[in-house]
Amino acid sequence: MLISIFTILSRRLFKYFYLFSFYSIQRKDMILENAAHVVVIGSGLAGLTSTIEAARNGAKVTLIEKEGTIGGNSAKATSGINGSETKYQMDAGIKDSIEEFENDTLKSGGDFCDKSLVKVLASQSKSAIEWLSSFGLNLSVLSQCGGHSVKRTHREPDVNGRPAPVGWDIISALRKHVENDLKDQVTVKVNTKLTDMVVDNDRLAKIVTVDSQSTAEEFEADSFVLTTGGFSADKSYNDSLLKEFAPNLLSLATTNGKWATGDGVKIARKIGVSLVDMDKVQVHPTGFVSLEDPENHQKFLAPEALRGHGGILVNSFGKRFCNELGLRDEVTGSIFSNCSRLKGSQTTVAYLILDEKMAKDFGKGALEFYIKKKLFLVCSDISQVAAVFGCKVEDLKDTILNYGKDDKFGKKTFPRLFSLEEKQTFCKIDYLTIFTPSIHYTMGGIRINAAAEVLKESDQAQEIPIKGLFAAGEVTGGVHGKNRLAGNSLLECVVFGRIAGRHAALSNSVSRGF
Ligand SMILES: Cc1cc2nc3c(=O)[nH]c(=O)nc-3n(C[C@H](O)[C@H](O)[C@H](O)COP(=O)(O)OP(=O)(O)OC[C@H]3O[C@@H](n4cnc5c(N)ncnc54)[C@H](O)[C@@H]3O)c2cc1C
Repeated sequence: MLISIFTILSRRLFKYFYLFSFYSIQRKDMILENAAHVVVIGSGLAGLTSTIEAARNGAKVTLIEKEGTIGGNSAKATSGINGSETKYQMDAGIKDSIEEFENDTLKSGGDFCDKSLVKVLASQSKSAIEWLSSFGLNLSVLSQCGGHSVKRTHREPDVNGRPAPVGWDIISALRKHVENDLKDQVTVKVNTKLTDMVVDNDRLAKIVTVDSQSTAEEFEADSFVLTTGGFSADKSYNDSLLKEFAPNLLSLATTNGKWATGDGVKIARKIGVSLVDMDKVQVHPTGFVSLEDPENHQKFLAPEALRGHGGILVNSFGKRFCNELGLRDEVTGSIFSNCSRLKGSQTTVAYLILDEKMAKDFGKGALEFYIKKKLFLVCSDISQVAAVFGCKVEDLKDTILNYGKDDKFGKKTFPRLFSLEEKQTFCKIDYLTIFTPSIHYTMGGIRINAAAEVLKESDQAQEIPIKGLFAAGEVTGGVHGKNRLAGNSLLECVVFGRIAGRHAALSNSVSRGF
């Protein structure tokens, strides 16, 4: 008797379960059938964020990337991402406020920042950090980068004594989520390059792409999100944006990947979008110069922590010439005014020397990585160092012996001061590396509003968005003004990427009747 009741109940349960599953699948298919189609162009942090947020808001998404792999410059980021009033700051007892963060950003950007965008950036920074943490990322390590009034740049703890590659880890976590959890909604197309945009009835109707075989394809969609990054590597012969807007920087190397050629700006410009701050280009003072390939236009970015842990900058005469802890643009300016070109090369260089203690404080694990890459020399003798510079040993010794005395470059904090005995030791053993200022970030780009809508070029004061087109990340301008604060770019990608993805998924829902 009991067994037969049990059998009947199980059959019924199975039937309900079957009907429920069937209904769910049907419903999901119906939702997908009616879903908005969003095309996201560019797969860095802004693109992946927009993709996830559009999919979570019910859209079918096609993510297009011109390279063979996804991640863009976002995967190269090392310092971290800013956030104010975050749980990590609270756990560490750091007092911060949205207003203070907003003020720091506006101060750094001069009068050029779009205040409405900065407000959104700062006020949504806490939820951006929470959003990233929800993918299993531990962003608990905080540092105070130049221009910030408190510690608010978040990164991951070191792994085996080496800094964790925060940009790479963020991209990997989001990529996995897209590939595993959103595979029914998101199609990723690599080796697919945006080449054109077509507007119909005031709305972006379709885009044109080519693949690696030069085969053209058209994509129609309800909305598009442009996340193609900046133009720091744009040395194109015909239409270089650097040549047009910052010609004095054209000869400099870059810390960016080869993909940073401003395609999004160039193509969107043809359909009449408004551009802003295109001449504001950030040059980082410390791109590593490899002695084996000094003319290579792509440079590894040297971490600010090398100077932060006491590294001393000298020129080829073995003389200091600046406050090593000054702002990026100040150090860059001093290098150009006080340093000469590397022998037999066109590259203006500065040298950084470290003693064993500085190297330890910086992290021997990370230093080993750079030594293996041939970006650092291990020197056993000061005369070896002087020989690399081509300077007198006495001049270099003099620099070290006088380091820390009434600093004429205005350096107030000395992360490392030497006793006389230590100075003698320092004169024997050091690590040496060579830097050149390199183009790092383009503040200018496509003008957007706080809803991440792309704005048309127009004489009228009122904003006129181009229907169906959103943008986020380095392809846009206005957030950073004349100078971006460290950590604000990854943040901009997450904050405006989320807004763009959400709005792109929902922007058409009224006209589509749901
Ligand atoms: C070495 C380095 C370290 C950095 N460290 C930090 C840091 O610690 N913190 C911080 O906030 N910022 C940092 N930045 C800046 C920051 O990484 C970038 O500005 C930011 O990641 C840009 O993200 P994005 O998504 O807008 O563009 P990207 O990440 O560059 O992605 C753009 C993508 O679009 C693709 N694309 C371009 N054109 C086309 C086309 N025509 N068709 C299809 N796809 C296209 C590109 O191939 C690329 O994959 C660093 C930058 C560098 C170079």
